[in-house]
Amino acid sequence: MRPFKYSKADDAGTAITRVSANAGAKFLGGGTNLIDLMKEDVLHPLELVDITRLKYADIAKTATGVTIGSTATNAITANHELIRKNYPLLSMAILAGASAQIRNMATNGGNLNQRTRCTYFYDVAMPCNKRQPGSGCGALKGINRNHAIFGWSEKCVAVYPSDMAVALAALEALVHVEGKNNAKRTIEFADYHRLPGDTPEKDNTLQTGEFITSIDLPENEFADHSYYLKIRERSSYAFALVSVAAALSLEGNRIKQVRIALGGVAHKPWRAAVAEQWLTGKEATEANFRAAAEAELKNARPLEHNQFKVAMAKKAITRALQGAMQGGVYGLEGGAENGMPK
Ligand SMILES: Cc1cc2nc3c(=O)[nH]c(=O)nc-3n(C[C@H](O)[C@H](O)[C@H](O)COP(=O)(O)OP(=O)(O)OC[C@H]3O[C@@H](n4cnc5c(N)ncnc54)[C@H](O)[C@@H]3O)c2cc1C
Ligand code: SF4
Repeated sequence: MRPFKYSKADDAGTAITRVSANAGAKFLGGGTNLIDLMKEDVLHPLELVDITRLKYADIAKTATGVTIGSTATNAITANHELIRKNYPLLSMAILAGASAQIRNMATNGGNLNQRTRCTYFYDVAMPCNKRQPGSGCGALKGINRNHAIFGWSEKCVAVYPSDMAVALAALEALVHVEGKNNAKRTIEFADYHRLPGDTPEKDNTLQTGEFITSIDLPENEFADHSYYLKIRERSSYAFALVSVAAALSLEGNRIKQVRIALGGVAHKPWRAAVAEQWLTGKEATEANFRAAAEAELKNARPLEHNQFKVAMAKKAITRALQGAMQGGVYGLEGGAENGMPK
């Protein structure tokens, strides 16, 4: 075991100062990702600043929607009345992730900042530009079945694993962060995570020492028509091969607004902007859903082993939109479904 310092922060200012001052320091939420990576010898922080005692766990109504605290657990967030009622898409997505035990530990801030990764990232004997910049990408010419079909670079083809974040992308959430000297800023969700480009070691746009305080969910018209569909290889403890967060607002059968975000296909949650544009103003029919999915996937760039994801994503978009038409299903294991979509 490698030695590291551990402390519990009583206020955000102290936590931020400690993490900003020491390049080897990290915030510690539930630890379900960070501690895992330390045990596997992938990350070696010198100091962990436990932020779970900080008072950022509220989930409350605001003038423009609902705000969720960064230290609230995934389990509490998914099951909170305000979220279930107004943002069932978010409940479904969170409940489709990990396992009940992990969701009880995992915090919302930690969920957003879990590493974008692949099995080569975990295997310290293999090259990985994300783990060790400049060492190469083991997956690019290796086994890349679970990897990206959109937005990848020669430097990294990994996909971002959070289910929660796919729903937050579709809901156009806002991430509030605080840095040193009390500097606060708000990041639009689309700008929070990043594509790998030449610097895959950076998963998101946070500056050193910046702490997520809360995530705002703007009011929307999607509560009656949203759905999260996750396709994975087994029904628990498995990341998405492809997932879709779909949300519709309808006037009769005409689509007034539509949001679609995909998981398991890129280094960040992938907004299906082409499909959204294609569907806006059209009738909500299966034929139109299929045509929109077809248009979106025209731009996919599959790797050697993941061409199946293209067909899977087309069917998943269609199925998720059909699920959204029916009002979604939640309360069981989220809106998760197993196996290939029909
Ligand atoms: C077996 C297994 C299966 C899983 N399956 C899924 C799945 O199917 N879907 C899914 O979405 N996830 C899955 N996960 C991942 C899980 O959801 C994440 O590990 C969890 O959400 C991370 O939250 P945490 O609080 O434990 O983060 P931690 O591990 O404590 O921290 C993660 C990172 O976030 C940083 N951090 C924490 N809080 C803040 C903050 N407020 N501000 C800034 N930085 C912060 C930490 O410094 C660290 O870098 C799985 C995990 C495991 C172990
Ligand atoms: S895909 Fe990314 S995380 Fe995986 S080996 Fe390549 S550089 Fe590392």
